[in-house]
Amino acid sequence: MTPELKTDIVILGAGIGGYEAFRTLSRLLRRYNIKKQITIVDQNNYFTFTPLLHEVASGAVEPTHATLPLQELVYKTPHKFLKTTVTKINPVQKIVTTSAGLMSYEFCVVALGSTTNYYGVPGAEKNAYHTRSLAGAMILRHNLIEKLESSQPEINIMVVGGGFTGVEVAGQLAYFARHDLAKLYPEKKIAITLVQTIGTLVPQLPLKAQQIIFKRLKKMGVKILLNTAVKEVKEKLVVIEPFQQTSRDSSTPARAFAQNDSPKKELVSDFTVWCAGFGNIANCFLEESFCATNHSIPTGPFLTHQTESSLYAIGDIAQVMNKNETKPLPQLGEVAYHEGRYVAEHIIATMRKKTLAPFYFKSKGTLMPIGDRYGVAIFGPVVISGLFAWWLRRTVYLMFMPGFLRKLKIVFDWTLHLFGFSYIIAVERNMEHGPKNN
Ligand SMILES: Cc1cc2nc3c(=O)[nH]c(=O)nc-3n(C[C@H](O)[C@H](O)[C@H](O)COP(=O)(O)OP(=O)(O)OC[C@H]3O[C@@H](n4cnc5c(N)ncnc54)[C@H](O)[C@@H]3O)c2cc1C
Repeated sequence: MTPELKTDIVILGAGIGGYEAFRTLSRLLRRYNIKKQITIVDQNNYFTFTPLLHEVASGAVEPTHATLPLQELVYKTPHKFLKTTVTKINPVQKIVTTSAGLMSYEFCVVALGSTTNYYGVPGAEKNAYHTRSLAGAMILRHNLIEKLESSQPEINIMVVGGGFTGVEVAGQLAYFARHDLAKLYPEKKIAITLVQTIGTLVPQLPLKAQQIIFKRLKKMGVKILLNTAVKEVKEKLVVIEPFQQTSRDSSTPARAFAQNDSPKKELVSDFTVWCAGFGNIANCFLEESFCATNHSIPTGPFLTHQTESSLYAIGDIAQVMNKNETKPLPQLGEVAYHEGRYVAEHIIATMRKKTLAPFYFKSKGTLMPIGDRYGVAIFGPVVISGLFAWWLRRTVYLMFMPGFLRKLKIVFDWTLHLFGFSYIIAVERNMEHGPKNN
């Protein structure tokens, strides 16, 4: 079939990586007066800043602060945004199949992200909440508020996964429970449990940071179950069992922390929030022969596919390794951002017949919030925690958002939020199933 759509550069996915690739590309095309058109494609008509979504779920951040309409991005540019779903990429013919039709391209940047990995745990996909999409965060928020308005005196929340996301979600919900909810619903008891398979939280971080996080969550009333595996998620129940550490797991500093204090096999859970891992999705779009065995896209030093030079891959979907390293870069926003910027520069260099040094990622630091007004910041061997670290993270995010007016609006809203309550209203009866249930 002949493609009915045609573009010079197509960016598939307008998340952290795709968004940054677009911004840099459009700036460089203008700078060098290159007359090429970019089409940026996403299934949503807005960009989502995923790391803020758990704050959307608790109401600390408005949905409009974590998102950006994509038509605004292309406004007054020669470029296009196409809201459609990508289904296939043919890198040999240079054709992308979407629900809007076939599109041919000269360069393609794949930035379609990742999905939730439920590790085959029965009932997890059906019964657990997640905060990896705006809709997911809003559904959790809505249903939590509905439950608060019910006559149930105790609400149990179980957060599964003690990595970055699980810690951030547990911390944010604990803050919400201890502040706004404690004041507005004083008769309710909200219990938050964090379940982690291994003996420590966020094992990628230095031991000092892990200890700070552990203590902070405990102080906020979060019950932490280490060395515990979730075996099944039912509608109101989670089945757990002790997790046997392998020799690899036991290299983590488990001894620093307390042992499990719950011998129970089944725990009541009104809200199970799944934060236990990312799943790769490249095989949903590309033939297996173009994918790595873990279903990511294997890239070379310039972030192009190892065999197809017009196909770039960035962010969670890409398997990128720094020179002389054998471990792929982590699936993090900071990585996707720098890869997005690099591929834009590489495409322009290719058009201008220039050369560019291979991609190399060096983290500038890690910033994570644990509830409102408390964060942990890690810069090499230096670990700081408290209000400043939290403020720093929000400031870095703010810098990422385009436009002076937008920045001003967000700063204004965030400042006001420090003094009031978050907006606790349940908007629709069933957000998952739309107007028919109104
Ligand atoms: C809850 C949560 C918290 C996180 N917190 C942090 C954090 O604190 N710090 C940090 O560095 N990282 C964090 N991350 C990781 C970070 O969000 C990701 O690594 C980053 O977003 C990856 O960027 P990306 O561009 O590859 O994908 P994404 O930002 O996920 O973007 C992918 C885009 O592709 C679109 N898309 C997907 N499939 C299709 C399709 N078939 N057709 C059309 N469009 C499609 C999606 O709509 C989306 O816009 C967090 C992730 C989650 C889930």
